[in-house]
Amino acid sequence: MSEASAHAPSDFIRDMVAADVAKKKHGGKVTTRFPPEPNGYLHMGHAKSICLNFGVASDQGGVCHLRMDDTNPATEDPEYVAAIQRDVKWLGFDWGEKMFYASGYYEQLFELGEKLIRLGRAYVCDLSEDAFAEYRGTISEHGKESPFRSRTVDENLDLFRRMRKGEFKDGACVLRAKIDMTSPNMKMRDPPLYRIKHAHHYRTGDAWCIYPLYDYAHCLSDSFEGITHSLCTMEFESARELYDWVIAATEVPWVPRQTEFARLNLSYTVLSKRKLLQLVEESHVAGWDDPRMPTIAGMRRRGYTPEAIRAFCGKIGVAKNLSTVDIALLEYTVREDLNPRSPRALAVLRPLKVVIENYGEGDVEEIDAAYWPDDATRKESRKVPFTREIFIDHDDFMEAPPKDFYRLSPGKSVRLWYAYVITCTGVVKDAGGNVVELRATYDKDSRGGGGKKVDGTVHWVSASCALDAEVRIYDRLFTTENPGVESGDFKIDLNPKSLTVLSAKVEPSLATANAGERFQFARIGYFVADDDSKPGHPVFNRTVALKDGWGKANARAAGPASIAPKEPPVSKRAAKDGRDPTAPPPSAAPLSPEAIRLRDTYAITADEARTLALEPGALGLFEGAVVAGAPAKAAAALCCNDVLGELRSRKLDAAPFVPSAIAELLALGAEGTISSKLTKDVLAAMFESGDGPRAIVEKKGIRQISDAGALEAIVDKVLAENADAVARYRAGNANVMGALVGLTMKASGGKANPKLMSDLVKKKLG
Ligand code: ATP
Ligand code: MG
Repeated sequence: MSEASAHAPSDFIRDMVAADVAKKKHGGKVTTRFPPEPNGYLHMGHAKSICLNFGVASDQGGVCHLRMDDTNPATEDPEYVAAIQRDVKWLGFDWGEKMFYASGYYEQLFELGEKLIRLGRAYVCDLSEDAFAEYRGTISEHGKESPFRSRTVDENLDLFRRMRKGEFKDGACVLRAKIDMTSPNMKMRDPPLYRIKHAHHYRTGDAWCIYPLYDYAHCLSDSFEGITHSLCTMEFESARELYDWVIAATEVPWVPRQTEFARLNLSYTVLSKRKLLQLVEESHVAGWDDPRMPTIAGMRRRGYTPEAIRAFCGKIGVAKNLSTVDIALLEYTVREDLNPRSPRALAVLRPLKVVIENYGEGDVEEIDAAYWPDDATRKESRKVPFTREIFIDHDDFMEAPPKDFYRLSPGKSVRLWYAYVITCTGVVKDAGGNVVELRATYDKDSRGGGGKKVDGTVHWVSASCALDAEVRIYDRLFTTENPGVESGDFKIDLNPKSLTVLSAKVEPSLATANAGERFQFARIGYFVADDDSKPGHPVFNRTVALKDGWGKANARAAGPASIAPKEPPVSKRAAKDGRDPTAPPPSAAPLSPEAIRLRDTYAITADEARTLALEPGALGLFEGAVVAGAPAKAAAALCCNDVLGELRSRKLDAAPFVPSAIAELLALGAEGTISSKLTKDVLAAMFESGDGPRAIVEKKGIRQISDAGALEAIVDKVLAENADAVARYRAGNANVMGALVGLTMKASGGKANPKLMSDLVKKKLG
């Protein structure tokens, strides 16, 4: 079972399960289940549920079952069963022997149907579909009892058995629970339990022509398997009453409990198998594993790792309130995961040839190029050939650049990553006036950081030695944050530029890249070799750009950016952010691409951005807190100082609580419940216990002192003890005021409302 999940921060479900174990409920054992219907591939929302169900079980030494919730023969398929198993395993979870099928319980479920009839708790109803709906009533009106409700037990038993034998057509009748047609909960108005469907089932074949409905089959499956905690999403909240009714009415010995949590919604994404199936069937994507799909199979092919997906699920936490998570948080988590596991490589996506005229024709230098230029502890390298003709990226050249363009232009110089400084000496154009080739000279003393100082570094490959590669640049599949919400049809919001295929030139060492191998193409992004790669002709998928160019590009122009790493306008800072790996580390480190992203996305200071970019634990909390609604400035200040201090002093990589707890903590400060000193105390307690800030404030009775009488006593005492300072103030030294306020705050143990305290000191001093 996953080790990763064992460290997930606590949440209301984990707290509840831990409390049940402590109380020895269910004999202290924990059994959960992940119950997908095999009618499509698993998506990111399922990943949240998988991490929760398997994680909760493994936290408590319990087990998690994998169960195919396969009671609808029309839509289910063994292909989906195999895909589900593969994806759950790939995510890092193991159900061991505990693989189950709802269809494996058909006989037991039928017997319990007969039992309900015998107990007078179910009946066969012949109402047509329309009449059924009419009898059901509405939210504001009671339903009416079906005329078939008074059938005798014998009559019902006979009809139910004949339903099973196939004597009736589809829809001719249903088995219904006999509950209460006046219940305010529509689910309780004699819901159907079994329906007739003459259809072939992928597992039971033609053995059955009646199939149990979800609300009947699911809770009983949970009971048969001894599930202790049945975790599902909020849309089943109103079904819980029926869940409990079926368990009680069938008098099964094992009583499982259902608890609901909010389903995951991701911006710019649809997470619904039905919609994803449409994208596949209507060929908007190449299949369930298309790298643009939010399916686990798609994300795997895109180059996401199981660790990144699990880390993301840990960051978003588990709660009851519905919220949409910004996909930027997922992309950030993926970058954070890929950075230490992706060796650097050189690739030119839009090749522009450069002829270095003072470099020997036919000369080839094998340049040692570090795989991990940013990590002094990892020394591995490979050779990259340097030759007279090279390719650079078209985007790294401008004939008439703006003042702050620090890449190549006529007369200007740049450093070639790992290699020499070159100066552009000429431009060759085609008949249409397009630049097709550059002429340049190189400075032979400039290798290893020598030679003249230049502002920019660009990536390159040798023209004669480079390999042709297909590079697939994937962008967001939708152009709007909530696809379909405004347009009325999610397919209208499909991004027409979600895939761009480029004929790229890559360094020769990539000829041997195996499918699934990951790289960081210098200055561009993270890439993975695709299954479509052929020997000597690799295909790379862009997993994620090096920085989030999307938000900015989108804010600037209508429509999505076609290729994210473009970063106009290119400022001097941005041009320098790709550090020259051959140069000695500069004393005042320039901002990393990640730091620049943070600074620009959140309008925080460069120092804060630099700190956060280096501290994944603090950064996860910061970005998660902002997603949860915290003001970025306040969140950055807290995360760079106090949060980071706690993480370091406790030697933690991640906090034991969810990022939204930071947002809550800041809200408590903003609403005046706690002072900044108390904020620190509450934060420390959060690290100690993993509890949320409101729980801590309540439990410990922490509250800042806003009672004027209590404050006045403190002020009087401090002023009396510091009579000489008071005298100096009265003699005209206004500076003393701040010091006196500080002393009174200290005397209150930091618990005083600072504004009230300072007003009081001022008043007393006159
Ligand atoms: P969809 O709405 O995509 O069709 P579903 O709920 O019908 O999904 P199931 O196969 O029934 O798909 O789901 C299996 C489990 O995964 C259920 O317990 C369900 O609650 C959970 N699940 C599905 N979507 C999400 C989501 N977006 N976030 C969290 N859990 C989810
Ligand atoms: Mg479902």
